[in-house]
Amino acid sequence: MSTVQKKLINDPLTVADELVEGLVEAYNGECRMVGTRSIVKNNIPDDKVALLVGGGAGHEPIYHGLVGRNLADGAACGDIFAAPPPNIVFEATQAVDKGKGTLFLYGNYAGDVMNFDLGAELAEDEDIDVRTVLITDDVCSAPPTDKGNRRGIAGLVPIVKIVGAASQIAPSLEELEKVAIKTNLETRSVGVSMSPGSIPATGEPTFIIDDDKIGLGMGIHGEPGVGEIPMTTADELTPKMLDLIIEDFEKDADVEALSAGDEIVLFVNSLGATTMMECLICLRAAKKYFTEKGIKIHDVVVGPLVTCQEMTGVSFSVTRVDDVLKKFWNMPCQSICFTKMSGHYGDLDAKHLTQSDSSAASSASASTSAAAAPTAAAEGSKEVLNTAQVRDMLLAVADKIIESEAILSEADRQLGDGDHGIGMERGMKAVKEALQGNEPVDIAKTFMDMGAAMMSSMGGASGAIFGTVFRAGGKAIKGCESFGAAEASTFFQEACNGVKERGGAKPGDKTMVDALQPAAERSVEVAGESLQDAMCAIAAAAEGGKEASKDMIATMGRAKTLGEKSLGKPDAGACSVAIICQTMSDYVAS
Ligand code: ADP
Ligand code: MG
Repeated sequence: MSTVQKKLINDPLTVADELVEGLVEAYNGECRMVGTRSIVKNNIPDDKVALLVGGGAGHEPIYHGLVGRNLADGAACGDIFAAPPPNIVFEATQAVDKGKGTLFLYGNYAGDVMNFDLGAELAEDEDIDVRTVLITDDVCSAPPTDKGNRRGIAGLVPIVKIVGAASQIAPSLEELEKVAIKTNLETRSVGVSMSPGSIPATGEPTFIIDDDKIGLGMGIHGEPGVGEIPMTTADELTPKMLDLIIEDFEKDADVEALSAGDEIVLFVNSLGATTMMECLICLRAAKKYFTEKGIKIHDVVVGPLVTCQEMTGVSFSVTRVDDVLKKFWNMPCQSICFTKMSGHYGDLDAKHLTQSDSSAASSASASTSAAAAPTAAAEGSKEVLNTAQVRDMLLAVADKIIESEAILSEADRQLGDGDHGIGMERGMKAVKEALQGNEPVDIAKTFMDMGAAMMSSMGGASGAIFGTVFRAGGKAIKGCESFGAAEASTFFQEACNGVKERGGAKPGDKTMVDALQPAAERSVEVAGESLQDAMCAIAAAAEGGKEASKDMIATMGRAKTLGEKSLGKPDAGACSVAIICQTMSDYVAS
């Protein structure tokens, strides 16, 4: 009997586009598709502060299912498990913004942050006011003292519900931002996983876990949590998970402990394949747990709303609601993901917003653009490429990466979520389309076009990061008439600076920077040699960096929660950098 999950799809690479098409049909006139892959509500009132959510697809019915009445105004949808690229974020922002500003509210994942930040920069260029609040409810992903680094998981449902209600009456973007910060602060989640989901494009599981084990604190993509525990019963597991939430409120100096007399909204989420039967059994255990502590459950949500394909597992999310948040919670709402029929607006008006406490630090985004200073070109390059050859070299890189999809996906499966090869493949197909058609006229522009094609087609961390390699590197050699060792050196140095500025990774964090930085450093030493010798040395340095990444403990990206378990395996992005450099070198040698 096959263990491969049977999925009813067409082309594995168009799953995200097709599901969004279906979503528009499901909304039946309430929402429309905007631009490449955004869902936007029809009839947004003219004076409303807009609320934009979004993230990778594959977790249906969130996020794009949370666009609706008294919920979000729009969602920017990425590919499967990949952040929406900046152009999609920008298109969605333009469509929802009514001149009073737009709040970006989404889960804290590096790829989402980079792409939404880039989208915010594009919107700000058009005089659209944007603020960002990151959802960071997963208590197992970082300690309370480092809350800003936590992932966003199922707590997004109560958070978007409450902020969506508040957005109906918010007098300003700043006031809405305060409600979002407060709701995020009062929302904490813990998840477990018992078996993985699989990526539609590869059929491969997102992680591996023994049949008799439960991953405690595991993320929605299967990111590791605090450890594995033996498989157990609903009644034993539920208090163990809820204890972590209670402890977290206790340990966090920014909030009061969760104690008798407090009221909460409780959300029991299935990660996909765990049945409603199991969720209800857990809910019953949770009710007993909170009743014994004197904590009142104001309302309950239960079901598979934040999923990861056919992953089995549950999460509990707790939002402490005071009188103000309770009123926002009580407001009816309607969407594909979550509908609440009962309740009323009550005496809620804009003055309630100004009473909200905003003790938490704002997570408003602030990305800066790379200011690349070209380094001195060394004299004496013996060989150079012309514009057409640069284009052909980059097409060779695209073909090689496409060919290496399985290797790159496998590397990402070891430490991340297994989608790196697919993302890179998608990017490189877009690169081929962008570069193949017309005769190239400019070397720098050819590199930059490659970067732009990757950014707008890939999404995810790698769309922003690898797109920046070619954009920042290309920009630094503007005006050059040939590509020799000196230009290669400038290219790699500024590509590396651009990536570090965009993503904040340092050498040693176990990212693609660990292959790119040695390549950039070596390029300076060989800038006076022939292009062939220089590229050969640069490729060797990138390969060495990739190999060295095996001995690093991840401190950035999805692998950072693995700690020492990340030892022994190379970073997936570093593998891509090594392949890119080697292919450039092979092209030059040929
Ligand atoms: P995602 O993380 O969205 O699933 P991919 O799997 O395509 O995206 O890419 C993961 C790779 O991206 C990692 O292996 C790492 O090399 C790179 N990466 C992630 N975050 C950063 C960062 N902040 N700076 C540099 N590289 C990063
Ligand atoms: Mg990945």
